[in-house]
Amino acid sequence: MRLRLIAGLGAAFALAIAGCGTNGQAALPAPTSTGTPPAEVNAAPGTVDTSSPGGQAAVALAAATDGKYVVTLDPGHGGDESGAAAYGVVEKDSNVDFALRVERLLRQEGVEVILTRRDTNHPAGVTATGSAGTRASLAERVRLANEARSDVFVSIHSNGSPNSADRGIEVYWESRREFATENQQLARTVQDRMIESAQHAGYGVRDRGIIDSSCWRGRDGRCVGLYVLSPAGQTTLGGNPQAKVPTLMPGVLVELLFISNTEDVALLKDGRARDAIAQGLAWGILDFLKSR
Ligand SMILES: [Zn+2]
Repeated sequence: MRLRLIAGLGAAFALAIAGCGTNGQAALPAPTSTGTPPAEVNAAPGTVDTSSPGGQAAVALAAATDGKYVVTLDPGHGGDESGAAAYGVVEKDSNVDFALRVERLLRQEGVEVILTRRDTNHPAGVTATGSAGTRASLAERVRLANEARSDVFVSIHSNGSPNSADRGIEVYWESRREFATENQQLARTVQDRMIESAQHAGYGVRDRGIIDSSCWRGRDGRCVGLYVLSPAGQTTLGGNPQAKVPTLMPGVLVELLFISNTEDVALLKDGRARDAIAQGLAWGILDFLKSR
């Protein structure tokens, strides 16, 4: 048993207003009524339980059966979980808008595209609210990507920060995976392509680089990753052990500008700037797929 219990994750929720991925991406707190310490989903490096369902070797599954590439785009948040919100931009809806733009571009190139949600709600079938809704929502996103045997998974977010000067685009990838190298390559490719496309369209977008999300949050020397990118692990819900199934294909989480920065918000409100960034993301995904 390699279960890791981490206390104090409620603090992550307190930061939700400041950070996009903060709410609903990291480990989820267990129901407070049980008095159980919040359970961490992801083990620290080297302690991943690869015997969990759908473990690490499953990347081999991720191939389109009809020769067509399959890409799952995952607009972050949804339902009662808005993500970052400021200056009239609400992240959960902005994320869907980006996903629809990228979907259209990829489909033009013959790629099959799965969206984990297409409107302001959580993925279809997720009706719970609060942390239970967030947990169900995240699990459903992973399930949809795996069910489609996607070649690539891309979670789409925008950022928020208590520092209003923070701005730009960054991409998270996870190194605690069998296909870590591919995750990193995908991150590098989409980041470079997005910056290049935005600049080509005349927009100055800050390049914040790519970031290994294995220790996205640290607690007591242990690492907390992003739910949709991190490896198999164990969690408890109401005291009952429950396996966390990971995405089984290379994936990244993109943070497209800062909703807390007025210059970035101007770009988020500019359809042409959105198109340029979406085009870069689509190109990056295609470059990665063709390089494999
Ligand atoms: Zn977010």
